[in-house]
Amino acid sequence: MADDPRPEAAVFDTRPEAAVFDTRPEAAVFDTRPEAVVFDKDGTLLDFAPTWSDALCAAIEASAHSPADADEAARALGIDRSTGRFTPDSLFLVGPNDACDDLTRHLLDLPSYRRVLAERSSAGARPLPGAVELLEALAAVGVPMAVMTNDSEEMARTQLGGLGLLAHFTTVMGFDSGFGGKPGPAPLVEAARRLGVGPDRCLMVGDTGHDIDAGIAAGMRTALISADGDDLGLDPTIVVRRPDELLVHLT
Ligand SMILES: [Mg+2]
Repeated sequence: MADDPRPEAAVFDTRPEAAVFDTRPEAAVFDTRPEAVVFDKDGTLLDFAPTWSDALCAAIEASAHSPADADEAARALGIDRSTGRFTPDSLFLVGPNDACDDLTRHLLDLPSYRRVLAERSSAGARPLPGAVELLEALAAVGVPMAVMTNDSEEMARTQLGGLGLLAHFTTVMGFDSGFGGKPGPAPLVEAARRLGVGPDRCLMVGDTGHDIDAGIAAGMRTALISADGDDLGLDPTIVVRRPDELLVHLT
């Protein structure tokens, strides 16, 4: 070993350029580092399908006025009850909740629908892989964080509280918190105000066009969580496959 001028050259038969010689080009994604973060909830912090699929099927079945009404409600909300899969354009996926209610109120008993949905989704809520790691790391360095979801504020508090994540957030807002839902910019502008920074210093993190469009309209930088890395035809500042991939840009 001592006679070999470059013993390390033989360790790898091909040089692992990305891993070893990474000079953090990703740091250049933002010209100034965002100082605060606003998160969407479903599909961004929570794993959407395990949290909602069984709960929605159970809520439709428990509250439909007839089997035909259950079928129509499932179609309107965008879920295939035989597979538990959401359709790509599912209204339930992007919300807001009041739009879902308007389409289904003649098909479902809405109070029982909401009760079963709340009970089952709270019990089934699961974090998206990488979400807890990101939240804990940002909290550790004092980055202020908010949640703005098109779900209700109460449901967001229940689910995040059940997972032990609520304390990470300065504020939690829903479509019903008084500033409307996404893609309108108003709830995000208010979230930034509560975080104590201008929108231009915030990063909006989400998984749908509603999130990215609302963030851009509010004057924020935007990050799209997309498991396959596709930008979905949107114009986010950055696309990541998992929430914790943002850590390098924020700390
Ligand atoms: Mg979402």
